[in-house]
Amino acid sequence: MHRDGINRRTILAASTAVAAAMILPRGAQAQSSAGALPARGEFVIRGANVLTMDATLGDLASGDVHVRNGAIVAVGQNIAAPGAEVIDGRGMICMPGLVDTHWHHWTNIFRPLVRNDVGSLGYFPVTAKFGPHYQPVDSYRSVRLGLAEALSAGITTTHNWSHNTRSPAHADAEIKAMQDVGMRGRFAYGTALGVGNDQPMDLADLARVKREGLPGDGMITLGICSRNVGNDPNPTRGTVTIEMAKREWGGARELGLPITLHTSGPRVTKLLDDAGLLGRNVQFVHPLNTTPEDRAIMAAKGVSYSISPIGESRRPVSAGVIQLGELLEAGVRASLSIDHVTTYNCDLFVGMRLLYSQNLHRLGGKVRVTTKRLVELSTIDGARDLGIADKVGSLAPGKRADLILVRTTDINIAPVGDPYDAIVFLAQPNNVDTVVVDGRILRRKNQFTALDHAKVLQEAAETIAALRGRAG
Ligand SMILES: [Zn+2]
Repeated sequence: MHRDGINRRTILAASTAVAAAMILPRGAQAQSSAGALPARGEFVIRGANVLTMDATLGDLASGDVHVRNGAIVAVGQNIAAPGAEVIDGRGMICMPGLVDTHWHHWTNIFRPLVRNDVGSLGYFPVTAKFGPHYQPVDSYRSVRLGLAEALSAGITTTHNWSHNTRSPAHADAEIKAMQDVGMRGRFAYGTALGVGNDQPMDLADLARVKREGLPGDGMITLGICSRNVGNDPNPTRGTVTIEMAKREWGGARELGLPITLHTSGPRVTKLLDDAGLLGRNVQFVHPLNTTPEDRAIMAAKGVSYSISPIGESRRPVSAGVIQLGELLEAGVRASLSIDHVTTYNCDLFVGMRLLYSQNLHRLGGKVRVTTKRLVELSTIDGARDLGIADKVGSLAPGKRADLILVRTTDINIAPVGDPYDAIVFLAQPNNVDTVVVDGRILRRKNQFTALDHAKVLQEAAETIAALRGRAG
């Protein structure tokens, strides 16, 4: 559907269809979305500069990647693949899809509403004002909008940090958006904005989602996003006591689910460790104020650390600084994330670039972070953070085919010398030519193969207008 073909009637019809989909039994939802995605076929990418991010396979200056039924079947040179569609990889870097490890997708539609330089219109007041007015269809459209941007920027896995899970229907809507777009990821079930800090999250519905709410193809996993714990100064997401955290985290762990939380506040790491709550299934987001003791605890307990370089580098120094060098030196597991896109765009290339610069700027080479290390953090280490490194994050036979082709003939990147330098210092989302998730080609020559771009935008605009009305 083209923009010109959209009128109010078609918008309303589409809205009704989405709303209806929210209350269909799950089987029917799965059927409708599966039909919209391209099939997992068989193809071979030939002649690309392949960065496998696999320690054994290494890199190939001119190599092939053979994909069949969603899986990588071979990586090498001159692979025999009779019958497979040939994709010309010459002039391209072929690498694992980028992995985002924390992103509040329900806020993706807020670009027209948030102002980074006007305090009263900042991210937190705007999300707090509009969040309570969300209906499931708003969650669906907001998530879908950001997933479309993520795909176009080379991200094939995202960690959907849903800290406005207002009801079971809202949870289903967010998961359905991930499924409909074909994105891999984790859905982190949260609490609704505005819910009292003395009210526990809906552990019964969490169990329902685990039991019957996820698609059967393993593309989407489940976790929880905890409210902040202890004396965190930022109350807009909610701040719960250590007793409430024990109750909620215990509920998640009984279901075998991982936990993520924002930890900008001081001394949270020690507080959680003293309560016996830390382990490898815990991810911290934005811990900008870590002490050497905090880092030692995180390393010892296997807690991972998600850095959102673009947003974090805008914070005043008083809020803490990005400590990539110190964290890597201490042996803390790290990964990269987008966080939100209300006042910047989705660009993990810029994220890597910022981290490189910021590390040199602060530490002057005391802790060396190479461009290859940054690409690892954005691919295989992100997959490790989300517990799916056995499936994705590198290109190797047997793994699921999540990969991107980055065009190296564009004016901003050509001519290419070291491919890692090109990815970190030069690449832009617009250079991402082809995006493959689980063997489905979702973007080709910078275009979506299935997603209706105009419809995604138009329905997002409808939701913004409706929210403005409901929120007054
Ligand atoms: Zn965040």
